[in-house]
Amino acid sequence: MTTSSFQAQCLAVIERADLHYLFEALAGRGYRIVGPTVRDGAIVYDTLTAVEDLPVGYTDEQDGGTYRLKPRNDTAVFGYAVGPHSWKKFLHPPVIRLWRARREGQDFQVTPEQHDISRLAFLGVRSCELHAIAIQDKVFIGEQYTDPFYQAQRSNICVIAVNCGQAGGTCFCTSMQTGPKASSGFDLALTEILDEARHVFVIEVGSDLGVELLASLPHRAANGDDLQRAEQIVAHTAQSMGRSMDTTDIKDLLYRNLEHPRWDNVASRCLTCTNCTMVCPTCFCTTVEDTTDLTGTQAERWRKWDSCFTMDFSYIHGGSVRASTKGRYRQWMTHKLGTWIDQFGTSGCVGCGRCITWCPVGIDITEEVRAIRASDNVPPHGEEE
Ligand code: SF4
Ligand code: SF4
Repeated sequence: MTTSSFQAQCLAVIERADLHYLFEALAGRGYRIVGPTVRDGAIVYDTLTAVEDLPVGYTDEQDGGTYRLKPRNDTAVFGYAVGPHSWKKFLHPPVIRLWRARREGQDFQVTPEQHDISRLAFLGVRSCELHAIAIQDKVFIGEQYTDPFYQAQRSNICVIAVNCGQAGGTCFCTSMQTGPKASSGFDLALTEILDEARHVFVIEVGSDLGVELLASLPHRAANGDDLQRAEQIVAHTAQSMGRSMDTTDIKDLLYRNLEHPRWDNVASRCLTCTNCTMVCPTCFCTTVEDTTDLTGTQAERWRKWDSCFTMDFSYIHGGSVRASTKGRYRQWMTHKLGTWIDQFGTSGCVGCGRCITWCPVGIDITEEVRAIRASDNVPPHGEEE
């Protein structure tokens, strides 16, 4: 689904000038608001205390290995695509302590960590990011295993989504069927309309909490013109994706091309820097690190994000399972687009484009798929002579 109709019965409109009431409504319910803000030349996700903290009047230019923040010629509040951060930094933090231990005589007393879980309101969540959260849900609170921190934090969030008003240069959510309009997984979803006559947000309600929040904002019912304009905005975004990916038969395409020469080509460019996995909203791999103090009485275990691009990640006694860059890039891309489907029932890619933008040498997952597909000489299973 690339766009879906706005359903009039659950839609309202608030004025841009009244957006601060949303902040007040969230703060009044005990939420710490986190969302996009400008820092160090990029739009990142951090604590917001007021509407003024949002990147009002900013946009971004993105391409392979390129990100530039630019002023807009209007005062749009959400006129940019996703940046280097994703919501996983809140639900699956880069570094957390798992436990502490203290030597007591001949024994160790282990104290599990009491994690500080706060009520978080995610403001400005894009449709691809809602899909990324749903994918991480399968990993962390799916049927088989549960991550206690993720589970606790996940059940303490409020989600204010934003339907994208423009596509980034590396976006391809329409190819992955993850956007640009939020279809579920939010409490409220906003579509920003900014033209000569108005600066408003069409608001779609997605939960009981959303109903409650909307009731505390000054609003009016959406009219036909509001809905038509909101439709047009999302449709235009869907038509202006910076990238695209043909996902037809993609799992089997990759499985039957594990020795394709393109893996050597991409390996000659890849720096194994791990950037793509750090910025990816669905990558979830971690390592653990144990530390002790100098006296040997205190020990701690920390969990940290790790990446399949490091040598150590697949180190088993005697060496790394994936010693070559080719092996590591192939592992990442075939997992993301192929084995993830076997493992979790969905693709591991939501088409956000972050791995393309933040790759220092501009390696582009859509281009790598295209190159393999272009010289896929092996017929699909079942069609062999
Ligand atoms: S693989 Fe790249 S485009 Fe896909 S979700 Fe991860 S960062 Fe986004
Ligand atoms: S593909 Fe790019 S971002 Fe990913 S490890 Fe290689 S050089 Fe780094």
